[in-house]
Amino acid sequence: MKRRTFVRSTMAAVAASLPGRSSFDGLYRVVTQAPGDVDAVTGDGRKVTLKDAAIQELMKSLRGRLLLAKNEGYEQARQVLNPVIDKHPALIVQPTNAADVQSAVAFARASSLLVAVKCGGHSLSGQSTCDGGMLIDLSGLRGVRVDPAARKAWVAGGTLLGQVDRETQAHGLVTTMGTVSDTGVGGLTTGGGFGRVARRFGLALDNVTAVDVLTADGKVRHASKDWNEDLFWGVRGGGSNFGVVTSFEFQLHPLTGQVIGGDVVFPLAKAREVLSFYAEYSLEAPEELYLDYIMMRAPGGADGVVMLSACYSGPEGGADRALEPLRRLGTPLTNGIKALDYVALQRLHDDTDPRAMGTYLKGGFTSKITADLVKTILEGFEPHPARMTELFFQHCGGAIGRVAPEATAFAHRYAQHNMMAAVAWKAGTDSVQHVRWLKQYWAALERLTGCIYANGAPGDVGAAKVNANYRENYPRLVSIKRQYDPSNLFRLNANVKPTA
Ligand SMILES: Cc1cc2nc3c(=O)[nH]c(=O)nc-3n(C[C@H](O)[C@H](O)[C@H](O)COP(=O)(O)OP(=O)(O)OC[C@H]3O[C@@H](n4cnc5c(N)ncnc54)[C@H](O)[C@@H]3O)c2cc1C
Repeated sequence: MKRRTFVRSTMAAVAASLPGRSSFDGLYRVVTQAPGDVDAVTGDGRKVTLKDAAIQELMKSLRGRLLLAKNEGYEQARQVLNPVIDKHPALIVQPTNAADVQSAVAFARASSLLVAVKCGGHSLSGQSTCDGGMLIDLSGLRGVRVDPAARKAWVAGGTLLGQVDRETQAHGLVTTMGTVSDTGVGGLTTGGGFGRVARRFGLALDNVTAVDVLTADGKVRHASKDWNEDLFWGVRGGGSNFGVVTSFEFQLHPLTGQVIGGDVVFPLAKAREVLSFYAEYSLEAPEELYLDYIMMRAPGGADGVVMLSACYSGPEGGADRALEPLRRLGTPLTNGIKALDYVALQRLHDDTDPRAMGTYLKGGFTSKITADLVKTILEGFEPHPARMTELFFQHCGGAIGRVAPEATAFAHRYAQHNMMAAVAWKAGTDSVQHVRWLKQYWAALERLTGCIYANGAPGDVGAAKVNANYRENYPRLVSIKRQYDPSNLFRLNANVKPTA
């Protein structure tokens, strides 16, 4: 028996005889589950065979797990939020630290593998998974540490935003996160990050003061305004184009006690009145007030509803004045606006998470909701027996617009709203008719919008439009991409091609 085989079989016997073998998990998998060669695909679509020995080496180098299709946990790990996205990576790495991400990236680069990076899996277009490539699933890389004196939080790259809200609020502090608490910090922040306090404190990415990024050459790079400044600039708006962010440092702001917020719901018949009100008031409202407009029709012809979803986070006493104009709309069906903990408000819409529903979404920024836009929105908003239809505006403006467009890679500082239209249908049923309808509806709306929020863009946006969407920041992004990812290893994103 060769020495290596002997060592392995001895280790296997030891591991198998242990009552709890968790600390030997890595070894146990290495010695008992010879993976065999695995077929995979490269970033440019070529077929490659990953050799058994190389996969075993990768496994050995990890503290986290490596899952192949036959392994327990693979099915769950390959899932993303939108059930329409049903992809099968050749291998899934679940890092527990930056060194694991480094091993995964080095392995992927050596075979030019197609690479996907998943944090919360909320990309509705499926940018965080792939067929036949490597999925780096950051779900084992979660955690938040707060320094209340410095008003800083360090957030691991796979963390969900609800964790950040909870840990920072424990100290009476906050930073901007999105509005559904199981969205990933990784995708949200590298692409933008609108949320209930963004009009006061800026986007999630405006609050990032430093990052650690695992770049395509396998190096962990610290980036901040003083260190790797180009990379720091690009990561704030360029998504995963430059690598995997393993750690974010956020600045925090005081937000103690309760906020005033919730939903005021009206019948859909009042949509014109509510939308016209919103068109005006969303531009005039104080920055402490965040107000979304949401209009929806459930499947089956049930009456639809229109609602305004509010969060007032300013000084006590200011809420009445900020919310008073809503009274002009008359008596609602329900008025859920009340004093509540910020963390509870941040979870209010968690059940809108479309896990059992296929979803297709189109969106675009607006700086003004014109009469033409109101008319087009309302005329086309048709009921359907088999789909839910939704049209909503996420409130922007305020502090977001005070940052110069070229200060970060996120250029859309003019936006007052992010308008989105979405259809959702029972997963597993025919999607074609619903997607076709939304595309038609959106064709009428699109001419009245500006650029796209890359984080919500569907997968069928062409390369020219993706490039143009970076506006004046595109040339600098290309040069940073050339420097940090010349082979375009990280391409499942609003992709900046190094060859442009
Ligand atoms: C229900 C729902 C609610 C939403 N609400 C908001 C909202 O309030 N505000 C808002 O701004 N957006 C919102 N979004 C959009 C959201 O910002 C994007 O879907 C975002 O990409 C989600 O991040 P994620 O980590 O969950 O995504 P994933 O699907 O895991 O990843 C999306 C992209 O981010 C990249 N990525 C993920 N983690 C990292 C990392 N650590 N380093 C580098 N790249 C990484 C991936 O490579 C991929 O390209 C919402 C989306 C959904 C589905």
